[in-house]
Amino acid sequence: MRHRVVVVGAGFGGLFAIKALRHADVDITLVNGTAYHLFQPLLYQVATGILSEGEVAPPIREVLRRQKNVDVRLGWVRDVDVEAKVVSVAGPGIDYTVEYDTLIVAAGASQSYFGNDEFADHAPGMKSVDDALELRARIFGAFEVADLHTDPETIERWLTFVVVGAGPTGTEMAGQIAELAHRNLRGQFRHIDSRKARILLVDAVGSVLSTFGDQLAGKAERQLAKLGVEVRTDTRVVAVDATGIEVESGGRRERIPAMTKVWAAGVAAPPLAARLAAETGAKTDRAGRILVEPDTTLPAHPEIFVLGDMMSLAGEDGRPLPGVAQVAIQSGRHAADQIKRRLAGKESGQPFRYFDKGSLATISRFSAVASIWKLRLSGFPAWVVWVAVHLFYLVGFKNRVTAVLHWFVSFLGRGRSERVATQQQAFARQAIRAYGDPFRRASGAEAEVG
Ligand SMILES: Cc1cc2nc3c(=O)[nH]c(=O)nc-3n(C[C@H](O)[C@H](O)[C@H](O)COP(=O)(O)OP(=O)(O)OC[C@H]3O[C@@H](n4cnc5c(N)ncnc54)[C@H](O)[C@@H]3O)c2cc1C
Repeated sequence: MRHRVVVVGAGFGGLFAIKALRHADVDITLVNGTAYHLFQPLLYQVATGILSEGEVAPPIREVLRRQKNVDVRLGWVRDVDVEAKVVSVAGPGIDYTVEYDTLIVAAGASQSYFGNDEFADHAPGMKSVDDALELRARIFGAFEVADLHTDPETIERWLTFVVVGAGPTGTEMAGQIAELAHRNLRGQFRHIDSRKARILLVDAVGSVLSTFGDQLAGKAERQLAKLGVEVRTDTRVVAVDATGIEVESGGRRERIPAMTKVWAAGVAAPPLAARLAAETGAKTDRAGRILVEPDTTLPAHPEIFVLGDMMSLAGEDGRPLPGVAQVAIQSGRHAADQIKRRLAGKESGQPFRYFDKGSLATISRFSAVASIWKLRLSGFPAWVVWVAVHLFYLVGFKNRVTAVLHWFVSFLGRGRSERVATQQQAFARQAIRAYGDPFRRASGAEAEVG
């Protein structure tokens, strides 16, 4: 029997590990909660009508169709029996198990509301296709509803958008909503002026894009101000409800009436991380990520690799590696390399060395910031780098072509190709919460994973 590798998660970590094992003498079983790979960095463009969900979420089977040593299976891994070397999976209406010799766990991260999970009903996060489609429905819907009202206060409430979290995702969302209001939707409504929309970007820390350094953060803030985004730093969100948000800054509490809120702050390890830690005795950090050995395996379990957003590992500067795509991609390749070395009888256990290629964030069309080695770029040059990098990593040739077409429509023209939002996209979260997911109920998995 060939060596069996089970990979949990078809994100950047899992997918790149699998691709690096394409010529290896192994049988791989990939278990993923969805049937598609999700390119999270472009989710905000799905939420703001630039790209379709299909362009950022290609089917895993199609991506891996030529790799004959992989069996793709749909389902959420609920547990790992490290003694028996078996993972238990809750599929849609069917539970099953898969045995492994080597296990790669790359289940990513979940949204964290810092203990206020009830905020999710009113401020969707930005982690899944469902989140992005719900936000699309809420954002475009807000302009439509505002156009129906005559009371100025009500109109203002519908035209106020609050984005919580001024990291790259929040900054990109705020910039895109501002561009929608001021440029794309301009002149399309007869009763409201979309340019009167108010877009706030709120964060508890002292600057936007704080990880990019003071110089780029300052530039990003100026670019946002030019777009009409109100930046509120050193401001903590203390309450969120259907019609507004409450913030606290310098000891002063303020209520901001706003129908549309976006949560782009905080990540936490997925539920599987706690299970795996309990099962193996591995330690976790404050975000619940699993502390791994330098070679990304679990202590006393060299047969289990934990990768990407789920792992906690210090980089060469002693600080924890960030939850970014490059860490996941490179750790995936590292795990594959370790497996191949072991199968070839070579010495293994080499530490994972992360090569930081830099960071990028867009603010709006033709405007971004980039920190690449010692180079600091902003404005149009940074945006060109951003386009090139995202096209390079977007999975699938077809998706690259259609993404470019849609970028032409939105950035050179004034259109948004993907404005359709259905009732189901807008309201399904509440319905699923109320009635439960029928497949998960049938499999007894309830809402524990995903
Ligand atoms: C909105 C957004 C924007 C981002 N922008 C950038 C950016 O511009 N640049 C950048 O470098 N990084 C960015 N990131 C971060 C980057 O996407 C992550 O660091 C990267 O995706 C991590 O890869 P991963 O493989 O660890 O996890 P993921 O890519 O999250 O993949 C995890 C996979 O595991 C699956 N899964 C989870 N739990 C289970 C389970 N129990 N059983 C089975 N399957 C499971 C999920 O369905 C998913 O497919 C962004 C993230 C988000 C959310």
